[in-house]
Amino acid sequence: MLSFELPGDATFTEQARIDEVFAEPGFGVHFTDHMAVADWSITTGWGNDRIVINQPLGLGPGSAVFHYAQEVFEGLKAYRHADGSVWLFRPEKNGERLANSARRLALPQLPVKDFLTSVRNLVTLDERWVPAGHEQSLYLRPFIVAKEDFLGVRPAQDVSYILIASPVGSYFTGGVAPVDIWVSREYSRVANGGTGHAKCGGNYAASLLPQELAYEQGCSQVLFVDNAQKRWVEELGGMNFFMVTASGQLVTPNLNGNILPGVTRDSILTIAPELGLTPVERPVELAEVTTGIADGSVTELFACGTAAVITPIGSLKDVDGTHQLEVREDSVTMALRNYLLDIQYGRRADERNWMVRVR
Ligand SMILES: *Cc1c(COP(=O)(O)O)cnc(C)c1O
Repeated sequence: MLSFELPGDATFTEQARIDEVFAEPGFGVHFTDHMAVADWSITTGWGNDRIVINQPLGLGPGSAVFHYAQEVFEGLKAYRHADGSVWLFRPEKNGERLANSARRLALPQLPVKDFLTSVRNLVTLDERWVPAGHEQSLYLRPFIVAKEDFLGVRPAQDVSYILIASPVGSYFTGGVAPVDIWVSREYSRVANGGTGHAKCGGNYAASLLPQELAYEQGCSQVLFVDNAQKRWVEELGGMNFFMVTASGQLVTPNLNGNILPGVTRDSILTIAPELGLTPVERPVELAEVTTGIADGSVTELFACGTAAVITPIGSLKDVDGTHQLEVREDSVTMALRNYLLDIQYGRRADERNWMVRVR
Protein backbone atom coordinates (compact mmCIF):
# COMPACT_ATOMS: atom_id res chain seq x y z
CA MET A 1 0.00 0.00 0.00
CA LEU A 2 1.33 3.43 -0.95
CA SER A 3 1.30 6.29 1.57
CA PHE A 4 2.34 9.42 -0.40
CA GLU A 5 3.62 10.91 2.84
CA LEU A 6 3.64 14.68 3.12
CA PRO A 7 7.16 16.14 2.89
CA GLY A 8 8.44 17.64 6.14
CA ASP A 9 10.17 20.52 4.36
CA ALA A 10 7.39 21.76 2.07
CA THR A 11 7.74 25.24 0.63
CA PHE A 12 4.91 27.30 -0.78
CA THR A 13 4.27 30.17 -3.11
CA GLU A 14 3.50 33.30 -1.12
CA GLN A 15 -0.18 34.01 -0.49
CA ALA A 16 -0.17 37.33 -2.41
CA ARG A 17 0.86 35.48 -5.58
CA ILE A 18 -1.78 32.77 -5.04
CA ASP A 19 -4.41 35.47 -4.60
CA GLU A 20 -3.25 37.01 -7.87
CA VAL A 21 -3.76 33.64 -9.60
CA PHE A 22 -7.21 33.27 -8.00
CA ALA A 23 -8.23 36.65 -9.44
CA GLU A 24 -7.96 35.13 -12.94
CA PRO A 25 -7.11 31.42 -12.77
CA GLY A 26 -8.08 30.36 -16.32
CA PHE A 27 -7.98 26.60 -16.91
CA GLY A 28 -4.82 24.52 -16.44
CA VAL A 29 -2.52 27.54 -16.65
CA HIS A 30 -1.16 27.65 -13.10
CA PHE A 31 -0.04 24.71 -11.00
CA THR A 32 0.19 24.18 -7.27
CA ASP A 33 3.54 23.84 -5.49
CA HIS A 34 3.63 20.04 -5.33
CA MET A 35 2.89 16.84 -7.19
CA ALA A 36 2.38 13.24 -6.11
CA VAL A 37 4.43 10.55 -7.85
CA ALA A 38 4.72 6.77 -7.70
CA ASP A 39 6.82 4.56 -9.93
CA TRP A 40 6.09 1.10 -11.26
CA SER A 41 8.46 -1.42 -12.75
CA ILE A 42 7.75 -4.90 -13.98
CA THR A 43 10.10 -6.34 -11.36
CA THR A 44 9.06 -4.40 -8.26
CA GLY A 45 5.49 -3.23 -8.95
CA TRP A 46 4.31 0.11 -7.49
CA GLY A 47 6.58 1.93 -5.05
CA ASN A 48 8.75 4.99 -4.49
CA ASP A 49 5.58 6.97 -3.72
CA ARG A 50 6.26 10.57 -2.73
CA ILE A 51 5.06 14.14 -2.80
CA VAL A 52 7.63 16.51 -4.25
CA ILE A 53 7.86 20.02 -5.69
CA ASN A 54 6.10 20.30 -9.08
CA GLN A 55 9.04 19.91 -11.45
CA PRO A 56 10.03 18.71 -14.95
CA LEU A 57 10.13 14.93 -15.33
CA GLY A 58 13.45 14.42 -17.11
CA LEU A 59 12.29 11.57 -19.36
CA GLY A 60 14.66 10.05 -21.91
CA PRO A 61 13.86 10.87 -25.55
CA GLY A 62 13.22 7.18 -26.18
CA SER A 63 10.45 7.06 -23.57
CA ALA A 64 7.58 4.95 -24.86
CA VAL A 65 4.95 7.63 -24.29
CA PHE A 66 6.60 9.93 -26.87
CA HIS A 67 6.45 7.29 -29.57
CA TYR A 68 3.52 5.01 -28.85
CA ALA A 69 1.26 7.26 -26.75
CA GLN A 70 0.99 4.81 -23.88
CA GLU A 71 -0.72 7.14 -21.41
CA VAL A 72 -4.02 7.49 -19.54
CA PHE A 73 -5.35 10.31 -17.40
CA GLU A 74 -8.16 11.48 -15.13
CA GLY A 75 -9.81 14.78 -14.22
CA LEU A 76 -11.57 15.63 -10.96
CA LYS A 77 -11.94 18.66 -8.72
CA ALA A 78 -11.58 19.72 -5.10
CA TYR A 79 -14.28 22.18 -4.00
CA ARG A 80 -14.16 24.68 -1.15
CA HIS A 81 -17.42 25.06 0.74
CA ALA A 82 -18.61 28.27 2.37
CA ASP A 83 -17.36 27.09 5.81
CA GLY A 84 -13.82 26.69 4.41
CA SER A 85 -13.88 22.87 4.27
CA VAL A 86 -12.53 21.11 1.16
CA TRP A 87 -14.31 18.25 -0.61
CA LEU A 88 -14.01 15.83 -3.54
CA PHE A 89 -16.92 14.62 -5.71
CA ARG A 90 -17.14 10.81 -6.14
CA PRO A 91 -13.33 10.43 -6.39
CA GLU A 92 -13.52 6.61 -6.23
CA LYS A 93 -15.23 6.72 -9.65
CA ASN A 94 -12.15 8.42 -11.09
CA GLY A 95 -9.90 5.87 -9.40
CA GLU A 96 -11.89 2.99 -10.88
CA ARG A 97 -11.94 4.57 -14.32
CA LEU A 98 -8.18 5.23 -14.23
CA ALA A 99 -7.66 1.53 -13.56
CA ASN A 100 -10.00 0.57 -16.42
CA SER A 101 -8.29 2.98 -18.79
CA ALA A 102 -4.86 1.67 -17.75
CA ARG A 103 -5.96 -1.89 -18.54
CA ARG A 104 -6.95 -0.92 -22.09
CA LEU A 105 -3.60 0.81 -22.67
CA ALA A 106 -1.65 -2.14 -21.19
CA LEU A 107 -0.44 0.04 -18.32
CA PRO A 108 -0.23 -1.13 -14.70
CA GLN A 109 -3.38 -0.47 -12.66
CA LEU A 110 -2.93 1.74 -9.62
CA PRO A 111 -5.10 0.39 -6.76
CA VAL A 112 -8.06 2.71 -6.13
CA LYS A 113 -7.14 3.15 -2.46
CA ASP A 114 -3.65 4.33 -3.45
CA PHE A 115 -5.19 6.72 -5.97
CA LEU A 116 -7.43 8.13 -3.22
CA THR A 117 -4.48 8.50 -0.82
CA SER A 118 -2.51 10.47 -3.41
CA VAL A 119 -5.44 12.81 -4.10
CA ARG A 120 -6.26 13.32 -0.44
CA ASN A 121 -2.63 14.00 0.53
CA LEU A 122 -1.80 16.36 -2.32
CA VAL A 123 -4.99 18.38 -1.74
CA THR A 124 -4.22 18.48 1.99
CA LEU A 125 -0.68 19.71 1.41
CA ASP A 126 -1.60 22.28 -1.27
CA GLU A 127 -4.92 23.22 0.38
CA ARG A 128 -4.13 26.94 0.12
CA TRP A 129 -4.47 26.50 -3.67
CA VAL A 130 -8.18 25.53 -3.44
CA PRO A 131 -9.94 28.78 -4.38
CA ALA A 132 -13.19 29.94 -2.79
CA GLY A 133 -14.57 32.12 -5.60
CA HIS A 134 -17.77 31.52 -7.56
CA GLU A 135 -17.56 28.18 -9.41
CA GLN A 136 -13.82 28.06 -8.77
CA SER A 137 -12.13 24.81 -7.79
CA LEU A 138 -8.81 22.97 -7.73
CA TYR A 139 -8.64 20.79 -10.83
CA LEU A 140 -6.75 17.54 -10.25
CA ARG A 141 -5.00 15.79 -13.10
CA PRO A 142 -3.78 12.26 -12.31
CA PHE A 143 -2.06 10.36 -15.12
CA ILE A 144 -0.06 7.21 -15.79
CA VAL A 145 2.72 7.46 -18.30
CA ALA A 146 5.07 4.93 -19.96
CA LYS A 147 8.56 6.29 -19.40
CA GLU A 148 10.77 3.34 -20.28
CA ASP A 149 13.55 4.62 -22.57
CA PHE A 150 13.06 1.89 -25.18
CA LEU A 151 11.75 1.92 -28.75
CA GLY A 152 10.58 -1.67 -28.91
CA VAL A 153 6.85 -2.08 -29.40
CA ARG A 154 5.52 -3.73 -26.24
CA PRO A 155 4.02 -2.43 -22.98
CA ALA A 156 6.60 -0.33 -21.12
CA GLN A 157 8.23 -1.96 -18.10
CA ASP A 158 8.95 1.35 -16.44
CA VAL A 159 5.97 3.59 -15.68
CA SER A 160 5.03 6.49 -13.41
CA TYR A 161 1.79 7.66 -11.85
CA ILE A 162 1.75 11.42 -11.39
CA LEU A 163 -0.83 13.78 -9.90
CA ILE A 164 -0.68 17.50 -10.53
CA ALA A 165 -3.18 20.18 -9.53
CA SER A 166 -4.29 23.48 -11.03
CA PRO A 167 -6.67 26.12 -9.61
CA VAL A 168 -9.40 26.82 -12.17
CA GLY A 169 -12.10 29.42 -12.60
CA SER A 170 -15.62 29.04 -13.84
CA TYR A 171 -15.54 27.68 -17.37
CA PHE A 172 -17.93 30.50 -18.25
CA THR A 173 -16.54 33.87 -17.25
CA GLY A 174 -19.51 35.97 -18.36
CA GLY A 175 -22.31 33.63 -17.22
CA VAL A 176 -23.33 30.32 -18.79
CA ALA A 177 -23.43 30.70 -22.56
CA PRO A 178 -24.69 28.10 -25.06
CA VAL A 179 -22.09 26.62 -27.41
CA ASP A 180 -22.44 25.91 -31.12
CA ILE A 181 -21.42 22.39 -32.08
CA TRP A 182 -20.03 21.06 -35.35
CA VAL A 183 -21.09 17.52 -36.28
CA SER A 184 -18.07 15.77 -37.75
CA ARG A 185 -18.85 13.07 -40.28
CA GLU A 186 -15.50 13.22 -41.99
CA TYR A 187 -13.38 12.39 -38.96
CA SER A 188 -13.80 9.90 -36.16
CA ARG A 189 -12.38 10.12 -32.68
CA VAL A 190 -12.53 6.43 -31.87
CA ALA A 191 -13.56 3.20 -33.59
CA ASN A 192 -15.30 0.00 -32.60
CA GLY A 193 -12.98 -2.09 -30.47
CA GLY A 194 -10.68 0.91 -29.99
CA THR A 195 -9.99 3.09 -26.97
CA GLY A 196 -13.21 5.13 -26.79
CA HIS A 197 -14.08 3.96 -23.28
CA ALA A 198 -10.57 4.75 -22.00
CA LYS A 199 -9.52 8.24 -20.99
CA CYS A 200 -6.28 8.43 -22.95
CA GLY A 201 -4.29 11.17 -24.61
CA GLY A 202 -4.46 9.42 -27.98
CA ASN A 203 -8.23 9.95 -28.23
CA TYR A 204 -7.69 13.65 -27.66
CA ALA A 205 -4.91 13.82 -30.26
CA ALA A 206 -7.34 12.35 -32.82
CA SER A 207 -9.93 15.00 -31.94
CA LEU A 208 -7.71 18.07 -32.36
CA LEU A 209 -7.82 18.49 -36.14
CA PRO A 210 -11.62 18.11 -36.34
CA GLN A 211 -11.80 20.53 -33.42
CA GLU A 212 -9.70 23.06 -35.34
CA LEU A 213 -11.89 22.66 -38.42
CA ALA A 214 -14.96 23.21 -36.24
CA TYR A 215 -13.54 26.56 -35.10
CA GLU A 216 -13.35 27.57 -38.75
CA GLN A 217 -17.09 26.86 -38.96
CA GLY A 218 -17.68 29.14 -35.99
CA CYS A 219 -18.22 26.21 -33.60
CA SER A 220 -16.40 25.67 -30.33
CA GLN A 221 -16.81 21.88 -30.02
CA VAL A 222 -17.25 18.80 -32.19
CA LEU A 223 -19.94 16.15 -31.89
CA PHE A 224 -18.66 12.80 -33.10
CA VAL A 225 -20.85 10.10 -34.62
CA ASP A 226 -20.03 6.40 -34.85
CA ASN A 227 -17.22 5.66 -37.24
CA ALA A 228 -18.84 2.72 -39.06
CA GLN A 229 -22.19 4.16 -40.18
CA LYS A 230 -21.79 7.88 -39.36
CA ARG A 231 -25.31 7.59 -38.07
CA TRP A 232 -25.27 7.25 -34.29
CA VAL A 233 -24.38 10.07 -31.93
CA GLU A 234 -21.49 9.28 -29.59
CA GLU A 235 -20.05 12.26 -27.71
CA LEU A 236 -18.02 15.44 -27.93
CA GLY A 237 -14.22 15.51 -27.87
CA GLY A 238 -14.18 15.63 -24.08
CA MET A 239 -17.81 15.74 -22.93
CA ASN A 240 -20.82 13.42 -22.95
CA PHE A 241 -23.97 14.30 -24.90
CA PHE A 242 -27.57 14.57 -23.65
CA MET A 243 -30.92 15.52 -25.17
CA VAL A 244 -34.14 16.54 -23.43
CA THR A 245 -37.43 15.63 -25.09
CA ALA A 246 -40.78 17.40 -24.95
CA SER A 247 -42.16 14.31 -23.17
CA GLY A 248 -39.70 14.72 -20.27
CA GLN A 249 -37.13 12.12 -21.22
CA LEU A 250 -33.45 12.72 -20.59
CA VAL A 251 -31.72 10.71 -23.30
CA THR A 252 -28.03 9.90 -23.68
CA PRO A 253 -26.21 7.36 -25.87
CA ASN A 254 -25.65 4.07 -24.03
CA LEU A 255 -22.09 3.08 -23.10
CA ASN A 256 -21.27 1.03 -26.18
CA GLY A 257 -17.51 0.83 -25.74
CA ASN A 258 -16.86 3.96 -27.81
CA ILE A 259 -18.15 6.41 -25.22
CA LEU A 260 -16.30 7.59 -22.13
CA PRO A 261 -18.28 6.68 -18.99
CA GLY A 262 -18.42 10.18 -17.51
CA VAL A 263 -18.89 10.68 -13.79
CA THR A 264 -20.97 13.76 -14.57
CA ARG A 265 -23.04 11.69 -17.03
CA ASP A 266 -23.69 9.03 -14.41
CA SER A 267 -24.56 11.63 -11.77
CA ILE A 268 -27.03 13.39 -14.09
CA LEU A 269 -28.78 10.09 -14.92
CA THR A 270 -29.03 9.39 -11.19
CA ILE A 271 -30.58 12.73 -10.19
CA ALA A 272 -32.87 12.99 -13.24
CA PRO A 273 -35.98 11.46 -11.57
CA GLU A 274 -35.76 14.03 -8.77
CA LEU A 275 -36.22 16.73 -11.40
CA GLY A 276 -39.18 14.90 -12.92
CA LEU A 277 -37.18 13.48 -15.83
CA THR A 278 -37.04 9.91 -17.10
CA PRO A 279 -33.42 8.89 -17.74
CA VAL A 280 -32.94 6.83 -20.92
CA GLU A 281 -29.70 5.25 -22.17
CA ARG A 282 -30.01 3.97 -25.71
CA PRO A 283 -28.51 4.40 -29.18
CA VAL A 284 -29.34 7.92 -30.41
CA GLU A 285 -29.58 8.53 -34.12
CA LEU A 286 -28.25 11.85 -35.45
CA ALA A 287 -31.29 12.16 -37.74
CA GLU A 288 -33.67 11.82 -34.80
CA VAL A 289 -31.90 14.68 -33.04
CA THR A 290 -32.06 17.05 -36.01
CA THR A 291 -35.67 16.22 -36.96
CA GLY A 292 -36.58 16.41 -33.27
CA ILE A 293 -35.16 19.93 -33.06
CA ALA A 294 -37.14 20.88 -36.18
CA ASP A 295 -40.49 19.47 -35.00
CA GLY A 296 -40.08 20.48 -31.34
CA SER A 297 -39.93 16.97 -29.86
CA VAL A 298 -36.30 17.64 -28.83
CA THR A 299 -36.29 20.71 -26.63
CA GLU A 300 -32.74 20.92 -25.25
CA LEU A 301 -29.29 19.54 -25.89
CA PHE A 302 -26.33 19.79 -23.55
CA ALA A 303 -22.82 18.48 -23.01
CA CYS A 304 -21.35 17.50 -19.66
CA GLY A 305 -18.03 16.77 -18.00
CA THR A 306 -16.07 17.67 -14.88
CA ALA A 307 -14.32 20.70 -16.37
CA ALA A 308 -17.37 22.64 -17.60
CA VAL A 309 -20.03 20.76 -15.55
CA ILE A 310 -22.99 21.19 -17.94
CA THR A 311 -22.84 23.26 -21.10
CA PRO A 312 -26.06 24.12 -22.99
CA ILE A 313 -25.86 23.52 -26.74
CA GLY A 314 -27.27 26.38 -28.80
CA SER A 315 -27.02 24.78 -32.22
CA LEU A 316 -25.83 21.76 -34.17
CA LYS A 317 -24.17 22.52 -37.49
CA ASP A 318 -23.05 20.20 -40.25
CA VAL A 319 -22.51 20.30 -43.98
CA ASP A 320 -26.30 20.26 -44.49
CA GLY A 321 -27.04 23.30 -42.37
CA THR A 322 -27.75 24.61 -38.88
CA HIS A 323 -30.23 23.24 -36.37
CA GLN A 324 -30.95 25.98 -33.86
CA LEU A 325 -32.29 25.46 -30.34
CA GLU A 326 -33.97 27.92 -28.05
CA VAL A 327 -31.88 28.24 -24.87
CA ARG A 328 -33.88 29.43 -21.86
CA GLU A 329 -32.87 30.47 -18.37
CA ASP A 330 -35.48 28.15 -16.83
CA SER A 331 -34.36 25.13 -18.84
CA VAL A 332 -33.95 21.56 -17.62
CA THR A 333 -30.29 21.95 -18.54
CA MET A 334 -29.82 24.83 -16.09
CA ALA A 335 -31.83 23.06 -13.38
CA LEU A 336 -29.55 20.00 -13.64
CA ARG A 337 -26.49 22.22 -13.69
CA ASN A 338 -27.54 24.09 -10.55
CA TYR A 339 -28.51 20.86 -8.79
CA LEU A 340 -25.06 19.33 -9.36
CA LEU A 341 -23.18 22.50 -8.45
CA ASP A 342 -25.25 22.83 -5.28
CA ILE A 343 -24.17 19.35 -4.18
CA GLN A 344 -20.54 19.97 -5.13
CA TYR A 345 -20.36 23.30 -3.30
CA GLY A 346 -22.27 22.06 -0.25
CA ARG A 347 -25.43 24.13 -0.80
CA ARG A 348 -27.69 21.07 -1.05
CA ALA A 349 -27.94 18.01 1.18
CA ASP A 350 -25.70 15.24 -0.16
CA GLU A 351 -28.15 12.36 0.19
CA ARG A 352 -26.08 9.89 -1.81
CA ASN A 353 -22.82 10.51 0.05
CA TRP A 354 -21.11 11.58 -3.14
CA MET A 355 -18.92 14.14 -1.39
CA VAL A 356 -15.71 13.11 0.37
CA ARG A 357 -14.26 15.55 2.85
CA VAL A 358 -10.51 16.19 2.63
CA ARG A 359 -10.19 18.80 5.36
C1 LIG B 1 -13.37 13.05 -19.24
C2 LIG B 1 -14.28 12.88 -20.40
C3 LIG B 1 -15.68 13.06 -20.28
C4 LIG B 1 -16.35 13.54 -19.02
O1 LIG B 1 -16.16 12.69 -17.94
P1 LIG B 1 -16.42 13.25 -16.45
O2 LIG B 1 -16.07 12.10 -15.59
O3 LIG B 1 -17.83 13.64 -16.38
O4 LIG B 1 -15.50 14.40 -16.28
C5 LIG B 1 -16.46 12.80 -21.39
N1 LIG B 1 -15.91 12.42 -22.57
C6 LIG B 1 -14.59 12.25 -22.71
C7 LIG B 1 -14.05 11.84 -24.03
C8 LIG B 1 -13.74 12.48 -21.64
O5 LIG B 1 -12.41 12.33 -21.82
